[in-house]
Amino acid sequence: MSENNSRRHFLKMGLSAAAIAPVSALGLSSPAYAAANPSEIQWDEEMDVLVIGSGMSGMIAAIRAAETDTNAKVVVADKMSRLGGSSLISGLNMAVVGSDLQKNIGVIDDSWELLLKDIEREAKGYNHRELTEVAAKGTLKLYNFLKEHGVEYDMSIGNGTGVKKLGGHSKPRCVWPKGGGTEVIKKLQGYCAQNLANVEVRKKILLDEILRNEQGRVIGVKVREKYRFNRKHDDLGDNDNPAINKSGTVKYYKVKRGLVMATGGYNQDRKFRGDEVGAMYNAASTTQPGATAGAIKAMVNAGFKPIHMTLFRFAFPIPTEDIRWGILVNPRTGERFVDEYNHNDRQAIGMAILEERRHIDGEHTVLIYDQKGADHYHDQQRFHLSMDGKNGINGTIWKFETLQALADNFNMDISLLKANIDKYNTNMERDQDEFHKPKSVLKGATSISQAPYYAMQLNPRYNYAQGGAMITPNAEAVDVVTGEPIEGAFVCGEASAGTYGYIRLTACSTIDCGTFGMVAGENAAKATPWV
Ligand SMILES: Cc1cc2nc3c(=O)[nH]c(=O)nc-3n(C[C@H](O)[C@H](O)[C@H](O)COP(=O)(O)OP(=O)(O)OC[C@H]3O[C@@H](n4cnc5c(N)ncnc54)[C@H](O)[C@@H]3O)c2cc1C
Repeated sequence: MSENNSRRHFLKMGLSAAAIAPVSALGLSSPAYAAANPSEIQWDEEMDVLVIGSGMSGMIAAIRAAETDTNAKVVVADKMSRLGGSSLISGLNMAVVGSDLQKNIGVIDDSWELLLKDIEREAKGYNHRELTEVAAKGTLKLYNFLKEHGVEYDMSIGNGTGVKKLGGHSKPRCVWPKGGGTEVIKKLQGYCAQNLANVEVRKKILLDEILRNEQGRVIGVKVREKYRFNRKHDDLGDNDNPAINKSGTVKYYKVKRGLVMATGGYNQDRKFRGDEVGAMYNAASTTQPGATAGAIKAMVNAGFKPIHMTLFRFAFPIPTEDIRWGILVNPRTGERFVDEYNHNDRQAIGMAILEERRHIDGEHTVLIYDQKGADHYHDQQRFHLSMDGKNGINGTIWKFETLQALADNFNMDISLLKANIDKYNTNMERDQDEFHKPKSVLKGATSISQAPYYAMQLNPRYNYAQGGAMITPNAEAVDVVTGEPIEGAFVCGEASAGTYGYIRLTACSTIDCGTFGMVAGENAAKATPWV
């Protein structure tokens, strides 16, 4: 195939035109991608709809595509040997307006407008409202879709009601699938296997490149079959570098109607996220190892518009609102560096920790409570999970009878630590904390003074990527140069961007993945074939 020649030709044309005169003056739009000539490509296989990614958004897109046109050949391809992406290891709890469970507890005054308001409080103006509205309006339809496709809900939640009010939500509306993400993925896969003969799900297939023709339409992809992801790299993103991971056999898939990119976040790609935000290089991540940046790189390479790449969401192993009861110190100096309350702004606290870690070669900062602080935890269950060492990466809390024992454990200088604790206690007594932490929110826990003491290495975990490829309300990808939807290209779930902005509200990734998954699948199946 002489694809490379034609690519070079188009790239050259685009660059020289831009160098001579502004693109608009020529009445042209310079393509941001290297166009492929379909007649020169030796296709190995063809299909109507190709969904890349087998998480919640991908499985829902595949089901909707197959149901929309039962004659369409739908293929789901995932690079990993274990299907399900981060969805598989997630709780996938979900905000639903108007569910039977919500009505059963007497909440009948909730509305999609209220949910939108809650989401936008966190979004801080960064979101694209037309997208947020699609997610907020679609929750009941999604809940019913999941039930119709086998997902059950956990009635043990919320004292047996099945519904709970989570932080940032103005109404009790969040529901939990039974068995979390693992069961959701299993149920959706099972549904396909039993009811949809036109869906095939494949493992170990890496999407390397998205191919567009001269008119800009997506016509197919270059993949590697029998790809092997190597979990041993320090930066898992190395797997996206073809010079480092050469595994697999190159194949070209012709995609006649629609490509759906449901490839999730890029949280595990240290270099990629560190380039965006320097301090992020050292953040831990809760996502599956395969959440690297190869898919977003392929989308950018094909001229999909990337947005919000510098926005991200942290999760802590303990509730953010329970950090305030203690003090966060640099283990080398014993000094505090942040207001541990910080209006419960998880991003601000997380960034302060990561920035402090950059001054101590990536070592962990330490959160210290005394007994009063521990007693104030609003979520005692999570406190005890941490005490039992069951809170995942860096989630363990240790108990110490004396401050000396605590200092010894973290290799800290006890005199520096004591001096800084004394300073905190004195300033707090006068409500004059050097970081403006308000005494009023601390109830009685205004000093570190009552043994025993508790401490943990608090590291923010990168949990969700708000950034990705920009979409329209129809889940179409947007061309970075023309700003127009790209024919034959759809993006959904965490791989897409625009719905949430500054911070995604809790229990809302599910509604974005599911609603835009349905929209993307349906529209891909309805797209006019290019051959
Ligand atoms: C521990 C944890 C708990 C969470 N809890 C909740 C919660 O309770 N509620 C909530 O709303 N959100 C929660 N979230 C967020 C939510 O789970 C995710 O945002 C969501 O599951 C993402 O789904 P997805 O389908 O977009 O991507 P994923 O489920 O990550 O699937 C993407 C798939 O694409 C594949 N892929 C990527 N690149 C390529 C490529 N180049 N070629 C082929 N395949 C590729 C990946 O291997 C992966 O399988 C949680 C996240 C985590 C990590």
